[in-house]
Amino acid sequence: MDERDRIKGLASKDKLEQYLIKGQGVSELKKEEKALFLGEFRERVLKALTIPQLHEQGTYKEIEDAIKDTRSKKLVINRKADLKKAAEYIRLAKQNNVSFTTVEGDSFKGDLGLVVAAERAVDIEDVLVKTRREKLLDLGLPEKIVDNPGLKVCKDCYNKIKELAPYELRNYSLMTLLDKLKGTKCTGC
Ligand SMILES: [Zn+2]
Repeated sequence: MDERDRIKGLASKDKLEQYLIKGQGVSELKKEEKALFLGEFRERVLKALTIPQLHEQGTYKEIEDAIKDTRSKKLVINRKADLKKAAEYIRLAKQNNVSFTTVEGDSFKGDLGLVVAAERAVDIEDVLVKTRREKLLDLGLPEKIVDNPGLKVCKDCYNKIKELAPYELRNYSLMTLLDKLKGTKCTGC
């Protein structure tokens, strides 16, 4: 099981119960949660990003929304992440009177890079933001298309992207007649 699954597991109630039944106790669980969520209690977390997600181009709307949420009080960033990539989130935090701190990544488990937390329990079911891949697969785009941004696709595939995830069109281009004559194959078919 990778860390992401572990975090997901801890986020679900069933797992929580199992954990308690196994007799590891609440305080152990809290300790483990805090170790995953950059020192924050799981129930106070509004949203979190992994380091690879934090390093992606652009910003995640889910995190912007969490920072703007009136319950958010704290933006915590793992020092193992590239702080330059977090600049926009930090700016947003300042703008919304959300305090900003960094923590030494080595003292924590998993690969979370950023956590937006409240001062008290908010009990949000799903605190992990879906990756681009997860989102697009959920929307029903074929794996072959999702996993090959930057490549050329046929008219059918282009229209599929346009219909399901129009904002993704910038990552693909339509094959031209010349491409077809040269024998270029569609990435998605
Ligand atoms: Zn195609």
